[in-house]
This record gives sequence, C-alpha cells and structure tokens, in this order.
Amino acid sequence: MMEKTIGTLDTLPRVGFSADPTPLEFLPNLTAASGANIYAKRDDSHPLAFGGNKVRQLEYYFGAAREEGADTILITGAVQSNFCRLTAAFAAKLGMECHIQMEERVPKDDPLYRQSGNVLIERMLGAHLHPYPHGEDEAGADARLEELAAERRKAGRTPYVIHLAPGHPPFGALGYVRAARETLEQLAQRGIEVDAFVVPSGSGATHGGFLFGLRALGCTAPVKGVCVRRPADRQAPRIASRCAEIAGLLGVDNPVADADVDVTDAFLAPGYGQLNAAAEEAILHAARTEALMLDPVYSGKTMAAALALARGEMKGRTLLFLHTGGTPAIFAYGNALSTAAAHRA
Ligand SMILES: *Cc1c(COP(=O)(O)O)cnc(C)c1O
Repeated sequence: MMEKTIGTLDTLPRVGFSADPTPLEFLPNLTAASGANIYAKRDDSHPLAFGGNKVRQLEYYFGAAREEGADTILITGAVQSNFCRLTAAFAAKLGMECHIQMEERVPKDDPLYRQSGNVLIERMLGAHLHPYPHGEDEAGADARLEELAAERRKAGRTPYVIHLAPGHPPFGALGYVRAARETLEQLAQRGIEVDAFVVPSGSGATHGGFLFGLRALGCTAPVKGVCVRRPADRQAPRIASRCAEIAGLLGVDNPVADADVDVTDAFLAPGYGQLNAAAEEAILHAARTEALMLDPVYSGKTMAAALALARGEMKGRTLLFLHTGGTPAIFAYGNALSTAAAHRA
C-alpha cells in the first residue's frame, strides 16, 4: 500500500527501530467498566529496550546524528528519563558512545528511584551518567551538555547533542507525525471511528506531532493533551509553536489551528514525576482488569484523564488512548506503587 506522504517526512534521515506498526488493542474490560469504547495504541511495545514513545522520536535524531557522522551522543533528562534510557539503547545498537545528564527534577531520595528502573537499564546498556543539580533550567542543562560535548570533541570524538530547550529542529515530533499516519491506517483498515484521542503532553513532541499528523491527513477528531510536566496555560503555546516548527521542517503549511490545541492539567498535581490518587486508581484499574501496565509519570496520568472522559463527557463514544510506555519506571516508584496496591486491595 502506498502511504500518504506529508512534505519531506519520508525523505529525512531515519534509523528504523520501531515496531511498524505497533498493535492497536481494544480494551473490553475498561470499556465495560467505564461506558466508552476504549482502544490503546501500544507504543509501549516497540522491541528496543522496553519500548515507549521515545523510540519513534529517536529514529529521526539518530538519523540526523548519523548523517553528521557522529560517534557520540549526549542527552539530558530527569533521573528516571525514558528518553535517556532509549538513547542509550540506540547508541548501544549503533555502536556509539552515550552520555546522559541526570537532572534533579523530582524531589525523591529513595534509593530505588536513584538506582533502579531506567537508571539500572542505562548502566546495563553501557551509558556514561553525569549528575546535574537543577531540574527546571532547560537552557542551563543544554549549556552543560555542550560543555560535555566539547570535552568529547577534545578527546577526538564526534558528538551529537539532543537538546532539551525549544529552538532546535523538532525531530522527535516527526516520529509522531508518522505514528498518526500509522494509526489512521489501522483505524481505516478495521473500520473504527475515533471520537477523541487522549495523549500525554510533556515536551510536546508526541502531542504536537500526533496532532499535526492527524490534521495533515484530514482527521478532525479532538486530541486531548494531558499535561504531565507544566500547567495548561504554559503548555498550550508550546504545542502551537511545536506544530509551526514541524510545518517548517516538513516544508508544508501548518494544518493545526490554535483552537485545535486542547490541553488539561487536571491530572498533573502535585507535579512532574509525582503520583496522585487519580493516577494510582488508573494504574491499578488498568493492571487489574486488562493486565495493562502503565507508568507513574506519564501513561498513568494520561489513562486517568481517559477514564474521566469515558465516565463523563465521552460516555458511549470511542476513545483512543496512546500508550507511550515508560514502564521501567514502575520499579523506580516501587515503594509508592506497592503502598497504593496494598491500600486498594
Ligand atoms: C517522554 C514521555 C512522554 C511525553 O512525551 P513528550 O513527547 O515529551 O511530550 C510520555 N510518556 C512517556 C512514557 C514518556 O517517556
């Protein structure tokens, strides 16, 4: 089948490690319990090192890095970052050196948080880990990463930096433009009409890319972005500018209007990387009825939003929940999750 192309999407360099396509799964038990038809797009299931949404995003970053002849990759993120874990996985697969800067974004001194989950996997993958004392200084984190890159250059390496702050080409979002195309093809093949898509909204690469891809291909269904990182009033303009940047990179008109940007921060409290009661309920409900594993930072909060919609304004309608993975973090949050599991017996 000939896929619909969107500007330069299929000509930009890309390293293909994703499951193409990831499963689209109907969730009968969550459907019966909530009152809306719920499907999950299983982007947690890519084959590389526990999968997740960063696989599709990194395909374009590593495409660009390889084109530049890089042999070393540098990235910054929270201690339990899935982006950093999967960067280490791509680097291992491609024989590159990987440097990870670990930011203090979450107030947690728990040894499990510091050693298990993604951190353990990064060590196993052979990545070099560097501490960074702040968590809300995107420009500072990038500047420190550039210093590390300069040191690697002096040592004779050719580094490529994956920046955190906006203002760089949104390569990660391209992965989600592709994901939107893939999802629309699956839905068409199976004759499923989706009334709303529910996606996490962090850096905005996933939300922005997915929304852009849907609109570029003529799908007008609402895309509900669930804030996991910052409040809605700061997230909405980020998504709008991401979409404008994607249009620039792909060389097409921006199909996303400001009114298409729909974000809620009702599930964010007490903040990034911190559980709340609605997320705990969603995580345990999905585990106990569908054996669907969700993470405490992203997919648990996103499912909490999906269930609230299903029980409320979307009752009787059809929802697609984008499962972005993050499941290794379950082990890093093991103390909080086992307490929650015991309390909700
Ligand atoms: C990074 C991440 C997100 C958020 O994606 P963005 O593209 O940064 O908005 C959601 N879920 C998981 C599991 C993640 O690792």
